[in-house]
Amino acid sequence: MRSLDDLLAEGVSGRRVLVRADLNVPLDKSPRAITDDGRIRASLPTLQALRDAGARVIVAAHLGRPKGAPDPQYSLAPVAARLGELLGADVPLAADVAGDDARAKAAALGDGDVLLLENVRFEAAETSEDDAERGELADRLAALADAYVDDAFGAVHRRHASVYDVALRLPHVAGRLVATELDVLTRLTTDPDRPYVVVLGGSKVSDKLAVIEALLPKVDRLLVGGGMCFTFLAAQGSGVGRSLLEADQVDTCRRLLAEAGDRIVLPVDVVCAPEFSAEAETTTVPVDQIPEGQMGLDVGPRTVEAFGRELGGARTVFWNGPMGVFELAPFQAGTRGVAEAVAAVDGLSVVGGGDSAAAVRRLGLDEAAYGHISTGGGASLEYLEGRELPGLAVLAGRGEA
Ligand code: ADP
Ligand code: MG
Repeated sequence: MRSLDDLLAEGVSGRRVLVRADLNVPLDKSPRAITDDGRIRASLPTLQALRDAGARVIVAAHLGRPKGAPDPQYSLAPVAARLGELLGADVPLAADVAGDDARAKAAALGDGDVLLLENVRFEAAETSEDDAERGELADRLAALADAYVDDAFGAVHRRHASVYDVALRLPHVAGRLVATELDVLTRLTTDPDRPYVVVLGGSKVSDKLAVIEALLPKVDRLLVGGGMCFTFLAAQGSGVGRSLLEADQVDTCRRLLAEAGDRIVLPVDVVCAPEFSAEAETTTVPVDQIPEGQMGLDVGPRTVEAFGRELGGARTVFWNGPMGVFELAPFQAGTRGVAEAVAAVDGLSVVGGGDSAAAVRRLGLDEAAYGHISTGGGASLEYLEGRELPGLAVLAGRGEA
């Protein structure tokens, strides 16, 4: 896989370079304001290096899940403004993805300038399963530039036009962010320092069963919190009240518990409430005493202590998924406690997942205390599952037209 430095060594001054970045940031609805600019900041090293080398930089990115047509609610306008502030340069936004306005604005770029294309998912072809449809969009994107840099780690698990097909059409390299993410994931998968402890949370157990299966043989401990712990607790025979429960996964969880022995560690207490609300009256109970009508919305303090003990001895830690509904103040303490314990790890600590990374920042924790905060949730989980990711395969020359 060629690197950004390889491209820079060829000389990029005056050349148009297409960069696929991951600028998929969370936004408030109205006014549309960016609530966490972490992904924009993570894209800066590659963009800045290209600008410094005199490249004419064209950035492609997606935002949210528009339905394959322009939709002002998903415009990248706020992202262009924030990117411009962070780069200290004007970043114009093309009115289309790879149409007349994109071509005109790309042609008008000077050395070191940056142009942002409108949300690539405004074109239905971006995510199409039809190779020819994606290929047509990829042709138009490729025509804008003469080299391609993939820096969108959060999208490398997608076989999308701007991630996969365009790389088949232009000389391609991995950007700085993709290189850093890969470096860290390689350290997690090849001979990690032990004990190796993984903490999983978040909402859906079905999203994470594949990664649990893949990691179980490799880890010393797998700590499970968040909404997904209730399916495991149910598998253990606990009543879980109205907590999140995926009934069709209970048998799988029971089998995993049997296989894992003491390697899977479940919560011992939970914070419950009758409703999903910041004003709800909460009670903290042992896991086998969740009241009928209540939901478990966070792990309790004894769980934080127990998880903290496991993390305290670890040398390698991967954490994905909040321990509770951290968006609401009464259910933040579990995520905060685990985040603090992960930050204190003496060794490599990696946070993966959009919501987990956002939680670290929203709870005001020091990002520098972590070895790495991954920008890619799905991408890092699929990598850890051992799957081949299309966006990486194509960079490594294993793509097929
Ligand atoms: P990530 O993006 O880090 O991979 P997920 O998307 O899997 O994480 O899950 C994040 C969501 O899980 C958060 O919005 C959080 O509110 C929710 N969540 C965590 N614990 C619970 C719970 N006990 N009940 C319901 N939802 C939960
Ligand atoms: Mg998420």
